[in-house]
Amino acid sequence: MTSQCNAFPHRRYNPLRGDWVLVSPHRTQRPWQGETGKTETAAPVHYDPKCYLCPGNERAGGHRNPQYASVFAFDNDYAALLPDAPAPAGTGSPLLRAEQERGRCRVLCFHPDHSLTLARMTVPEIETVVEAWTAQYVELSAQPFTQHVQIFENRGAMMGASNPHPHCQIWATEHVPDEPAAERVNLKLWRETHGRGLLADYVALEVQQEERIVCQNGEFLAVVPYWAVWPFETLVLARQPLRELPEFSAVQRRALADILSQLTIRYDNLFETSFPYTMGFHQGPGLEQHFHAHFYPPLLRSATVKKFMVGFEMLGMPQRDILPEDAAARLREVSATHHLGSRA
Ligand SMILES: [Zn+2]
Ligand SMILES: [Zn+2]
Repeated sequence: MTSQCNAFPHRRYNPLRGDWVLVSPHRTQRPWQGETGKTETAAPVHYDPKCYLCPGNERAGGHRNPQYASVFAFDNDYAALLPDAPAPAGTGSPLLRAEQERGRCRVLCFHPDHSLTLARMTVPEIETVVEAWTAQYVELSAQPFTQHVQIFENRGAMMGASNPHPHCQIWATEHVPDEPAAERVNLKLWRETHGRGLLADYVALEVQQEERIVCQNGEFLAVVPYWAVWPFETLVLARQPLRELPEFSAVQRRALADILSQLTIRYDNLFETSFPYTMGFHQGPGLEQHFHAHFYPPLLRSATVKKFMVGFEMLGMPQRDILPEDAAARLREVSATHHLGSRA
């Protein structure tokens, strides 16, 4: 158990990234006089004529969305990556390195209803999104240059999301980006050293200890990882050593939809707000891979008070006050039913 170190500062190792987080639980005793209010709950708008993601609306460059009825994917009109980007010219100095990076950026709308979020969608509706993620992953992985496909969702203005319409982005890149690349090194090393999967071992440990589990079903569990940096960061882990979405059975796709629903409802209920976060999946075809999702929410103590990564965190290492075990307990204790009621 971890409790003996929970009264004083210590640092915890993140075996996925190979780095550390400073944990300072004694600081949660200090008085807080900042804001603690709830946010606006504006009346839901199911269709916004100015939204470039709503069905039937015009996008940049004269494109017009179809009157889609469930999910809808298209190439980003302002793509950060291009499939035909040329190789940059040499600079003549090893200090000034640039490389060709071809890629493709796609947008996937989760639902035609502008007012919804994953937390407000039904499990069958999210299951349709899981099927679309799988199809997009297969299609983008098949591009000749693709080394990695990153599915991610930026939710909420606090995370810089430019549009509240429920959607995610899917970027295919010519190189494995830094985060999954660092994980790959550590996952490989663990397998070579222990002969087992790092995340399979971690699933077994969390199931046994229970104190960091937020919610679960037959195929997945959501935990606040031991090494969490963000106050209410979670890791969604496949119980089986699944590597990537195309391997999933229908039961596993349904179970992924279910765990995403359970988790995002709890997030919304924590501060009774539409909870902001960045989330995304890490997966791949390699032997060392173990499908998982990271949720990185910025909120700290209310619907408006966020954690800043500044000071020591920019120059030293990340630091947190609330214990991951306490964050998990708080998320576990809120209602499993959305505070705005059920749509089903
Ligand atoms: Zn919209
Ligand atoms: Zn990861």
